[in-house]
Amino acid sequence: MSPQPVELKRTEDHHIEIEWSDGFQQRISYRMLRDNCPCATCREPTDTPPATGLRVLSAAETIPLVVQKMQPVGNYAYNIQFSDDHNTGIFTFNLLRNLAKRSS
Ligand SMILES: [Zn+2]
Repeated sequence: MSPQPVELKRTEDHHIEIEWSDGFQQRISYRMLRDNCPCATCREPTDTPPATGLRVLSAAETIPLVVQKMQPVGNYAYNIQFSDDHNTGIFTFNLLRNLAKRSS
């Protein structure tokens, strides 16, 4: 059986902390979660070509991104609501675990 989160909390410094059933402790930044949102909209290639050089940040990107809500979906995932009004991403436990490998 794959590990399950046993504890999940949001920290003051814009991270979530997950403790897994196998004892693994994980920290993921809000920004990283948002960048790895698995929903169809975020995974779709944007219609603008990749920018070369600096790109202009939209207003929403200049204010710190916050995770407003995390809700369990079944017993395999969390639905995350971000402060930029994005709430369609279903983050499976598998995906969350894989983010740990990338951030370490
Ligand atoms: Zn998304």
